[in-house]
Amino acid sequence: MPVYPPEPFRIKEVESIRLIPPKAREAALKEAGYNLFAVKAEDIYIDLLTDSGTGAMSQEQWAAILRGDESYAGARSFYRLKTAVEDIFGFKYFVPAHQGRAAENILCACLVKPGQYVPSNMHFDTTDANIRARGGRPENLVIDEAFDPTILHPFKGNMDNAKLKAFIEKVGAVNIPFGMVTVTNNAGGGQPVSMENLKAIADVYHSNNIPFFIDAARYAENCFFIQLREPGYAHKSVKEIAHEMFALADGMTMSAKKDAIVNIGGLLCMNEGILFEKVKNELILREGFPTYGGLAGRDLEAMAVGLYEGLDETYLSYRLGQTAYLAARINEAGIPTIQPAGGHAVYLDAAATLPHIPQQEFPGQALSVELFREGAIRGVEIGSVMFAHPDLETGQVVYPKLELLRLAIPRRTYTQSHMDYVADTLAHIKTRAANVHGFRFTYTPELLRHFTARFEPLK
Ligand SMILES: *Cc1c(COP(=O)(O)O)cnc(C)c1O
Repeated sequence: MPVYPPEPFRIKEVESIRLIPPKAREAALKEAGYNLFAVKAEDIYIDLLTDSGTGAMSQEQWAAILRGDESYAGARSFYRLKTAVEDIFGFKYFVPAHQGRAAENILCACLVKPGQYVPSNMHFDTTDANIRARGGRPENLVIDEAFDPTILHPFKGNMDNAKLKAFIEKVGAVNIPFGMVTVTNNAGGGQPVSMENLKAIADVYHSNNIPFFIDAARYAENCFFIQLREPGYAHKSVKEIAHEMFALADGMTMSAKKDAIVNIGGLLCMNEGILFEKVKNELILREGFPTYGGLAGRDLEAMAVGLYEGLDETYLSYRLGQTAYLAARINEAGIPTIQPAGGHAVYLDAAATLPHIPQQEFPGQALSVELFREGAIRGVEIGSVMFAHPDLETGQVVYPKLELLRLAIPRRTYTQSHMDYVADTLAHIKTRAANVHGFRFTYTPELLRHFTARFEPLK
């Protein structure tokens, strides 16, 4: 059992949480159409829906918020952020955006034409949807080990280079406006990508004249995994590793709500001047003037501070340790999780936990409902509700390889006893797993359907 790392902070402000009684939980589920996104946050006791924008900001960040310059153009806060972004990422140009998907939207609007392809190890759901929304086709080329939850591979987020080369050959490099890689691989278990793999991917993209963009939402966690696990990196700082990583790429998108530990914000960076001109025009149309990009000056300040706090190695060691501890306690309760534990979240193998529920009846959704019913805990399904889709050519539904329930851990927010409560609740569910039933849709929107779909239980 990994030791729980003592938090490298103390608490000076608290937010009360309350556990509502079982009857109220049942009523909340019914009203929400059994979709946890529709449950009131007040009715959740431990909220592990996402680590996105849910972290606790530091006193330095709150102090920076008071220094926010709200000038429409050229605000001091923009230049503070610019200094931090240039120092950490090193790209020539950048714009702020209100969150990661806004950066993706701008990038896709500028580069993706109908019928074009965008490969990655695994696209996150918003990236996938933004590419599709422009008529493009996202392609996931992660190594096969990523689909076996039991294999202990140190860099399970790696892209399969042979698959990438074959894919480029098949569709033609001219039909690929840019290629990506997601660090860490959120959709595949929060698993890191090695520097060796990043270098190989960059080589393949560049030898085919394909611009290379990194989805950098959790780049700091990825760089810390590289320091821990990759030969030759133990003595490099996380910041040095980040420099090496971003020097390989032509640009990046980032949800600052992740490793920049802010409640709202995003970044789009690039080296190419012509693209930057297009990006600025699109940004002005969709988000705002290029020196604020849909954010308030105070948000830019908090991001500038948070980018450095997210790189702090004592913090990163605590964060990855907390995640590993929760995973180990859940495994102890007999529930398998993706191995090894990822950076920001524990991914429960719902298909293995509820083997009697077939994919078309959504085992991940069933487990998420059960976790709320038993302990008012909220996780999120990452499986067929999120990713099953009709094949463009045949119309047949394509199911994802894994049916997962993700428990994402907000940064600097919950303590060891909260993690123990989650593991103990799952242990109770495990004892009556055979009686848990599946679900069917009663409503599905066209894109990103997991957010607003409604369900009914199958008896
Ligand atoms: C969260 C996330 C995004 C989207 O960012 P938002 O800020 O939620 O819009 C994109 N990619 C990855 C890997 C993410 O985790």
